[in-house]
Amino acid sequence: MNGVDGVDYSAQLDALIEHIRSRGFADERVLEAMRRVPRHLLVPPEGRPFAYIDHALPIGEGQTISQPSLVAQMTSLLKLQGHERVLEIGTGSGYQTAILRLLCRELVTMERFPRLALGAFHRLRSLNLPPIVWVMGDGTRGFPPYAPYDCILVTAGCPDQVPPPFLEQLSPNGGRLLLPMGTRSYQLLTLITKRGDKLFTHTYGECVFVPLVGKYGWSE
Ligand code: SAH
Repeated sequence: MNGVDGVDYSAQLDALIEHIRSRGFADERVLEAMRRVPRHLLVPPEGRPFAYIDHALPIGEGQTISQPSLVAQMTSLLKLQGHERVLEIGTGSGYQTAILRLLCRELVTMERFPRLALGAFHRLRSLNLPPIVWVMGDGTRGFPPYAPYDCILVTAGCPDQVPPPFLEQLSPNGGRLLLPMGTRSYQLLTLITKRGDKLFTHTYGECVFVPLVGKYGWSE
């Protein structure tokens, strides 16, 4: 594990993985991917001492890097086998992006703040991951050039109406759309599976994400 500031973060990372496991999380493929992503390199320098605490942290522009146990749960719900094309909405720090990239075949990630998108692009380049398609812009419109997607993961809180582009761009062969849905300050983690023209919805408990802002999301 890369040391910066003269600190070896590997023991802290191990402890975080054990913490997530101790809460009953048992998806070893996801834990292994998390073990390979140095979260301390993806937060601002002042956040490094807290990088391996199971907590969201500020990353600038009023946004946050998601809580690791929630990243684990969301990634696991996608049931990635390695052959999927995935669309991620809300690159943010790039933490979830890096984990997804280790578990799927093709990844498109979208971010509305250029400064966050560029920061994540540069930090992830140093991790030597396979190629990622980086898109700056309003993710509520999805990204048609690469559709259909086997999975769409939204890491910002969506209003109660699913943005239509997500459903249109989701593969009809069991495509999985995972998004926090609810109010601006409180959401339910919602998984929608598309089979043909049918949609099957499950919810997985409460969560709190920053708002999804855009044409089919919240206003500024
Ligand atoms: N997975 C990220 C979460 C960042 S917070 C991480 O762990 O770091 C959610 C992100 O979604 C923010 O960066 C925010 O700017 C972004 N976002 C909000 N609305 C968006 C939209 N319409 N399109 C793209 N990104 C959006």
